[in-house]
Amino acid sequence: MADKVVKTDEEWKAMLTPEQFEVARRKGTERAFTGKYWDFHDQGVYLCVCCGNELFTSDTKYDSGCGWPSFYAPLDEGRIAKEADRSYGMTRTEVMCSRCGAHLGHVFDDGPNPTGLRFCMNSASLSFTKKESGDK
Ligand code: FE
Repeated sequence: MADKVVKTDEEWKAMLTPEQFEVARRKGTERAFTGKYWDFHDQGVYLCVCCGNELFTSDTKYDSGCGWPSFYAPLDEGRIAKEADRSYGMTRTEVMCSRCGAHLGHVFDDGPNPTGLRFCMNSASLSFTKKESGDK
């Protein structure tokens, strides 16, 4: 993994939309069924909107019905970081970008095979790049 990316809030604000900043840098959550990628099925790679770290591919994306883009596995475990999140009276596992610390979403254990995991991500924390199959 490449070096960590560290920027000030002012630097992040200058390069992100207000919604991207609120979700990725302030641990916000976009409203369900409103993001760019929950109902998006192109083949390619999902990157951290903040630092470009490749996080997920369309190969592990599935329709969870929850209104957020959902994946059953990250591209590589080393590209994400997990942390216990006890906010809002719930115990959840937060998922972050391992390179820049961007808040991505949460991971739940109600996903499909082969992992049984549901990485419930915010579209606002992701960007997408098309890749032809065999390209990666
Ligand atoms: Fe990042």
